[in-house]
Amino acid sequence: MSAKKPLPPPPPLPRLGVESHAHLDDPRFLQDLDQVLSRAAAAGVAHLGQVFLGPEAWEKGKKRFPQNPAHPEVFFLLGIHPAEAHAFPPDVPDRIRALLLADPDASRVRALGEIGLDYHWKDCPPSVQKEMFRRQLRLARDLDLPVVIHCREATEDAFSLLRGEDFPGRPLLWHCFGGDSALAARIVDAGWHLSIPGPVTYPANADLRRAVASIPQDRLLVETDCPYLAPHPLRGRRNEPAFLGYTIAAMAEARNMDPAALWAACGENARRFFRLEDRTAARKAET
Ligand SMILES: [Zn+2]
Repeated sequence: MSAKKPLPPPPPLPRLGVESHAHLDDPRFLQDLDQVLSRAAAAGVAHLGQVFLGPEAWEKGKKRFPQNPAHPEVFFLLGIHPAEAHAFPPDVPDRIRALLLADPDASRVRALGEIGLDYHWKDCPPSVQKEMFRRQLRLARDLDLPVVIHCREATEDAFSLLRGEDFPGRPLLWHCFGGDSALAARIVDAGWHLSIPGPVTYPANADLRRAVASIPQDRLLVETDCPYLAPHPLRGRRNEPAFLGYTIAAMAEARNMDPAALWAACGENARRFFRLEDRTAARKAET
């Protein structure tokens, strides 16, 4: 079985990077979460964004990520995924609001996400998705939190809804970007950030690599979206944050720059976007 084969070593990177989007509460990480997080730190991940899809997932999962100096510093994203919007009561954003205002762990939630529109899966009607998206955008604005967007086969509806909610110029990260240079330019022009996943390494994705080459350096982040979307040459395996080196290498090649420098720059962008230094400073002030 291929899972038994030793991994090719990822290129070494300084511990300055940020994994912007991981689903480490997925059952596929139940057995070895501690090792996954240790490998992430060894691979250069300083901070890691763990995504919880809904208040139950957050309440159940957050205790699995205590602060540990051998691990990246884990921060949280919390939101209702568009493809699952019909599975929650329409007022679940109010519940999220109440939790974020009352729970002592709420300071670890650095963004609402992933929220948006997904017309690929047909289970959830677009009208339900739009209403849930709109409510979560308003919640993010009220709570002064950045948003992380999931958009699949719904680009024009997402743009018009975001314009309607006055989001151009607000802190927004387009997660798992897979588009071309023209879409990247529209996102950049709206003042937003883009996070690049493992498929940038796949031989067929030359358009995505051209898009990555075109994005201003201060708007770029990197992510796994693990357990999905493992980069080449690990495609088809369970993805994990320690594999980000392959993704950065492909991005750096597309941009004709040094992988370690791009890794540090994307990390710096993520720390600024998610305001991670604020939190570190706040915690130091508490102690
Ligand atoms: Zn995701």
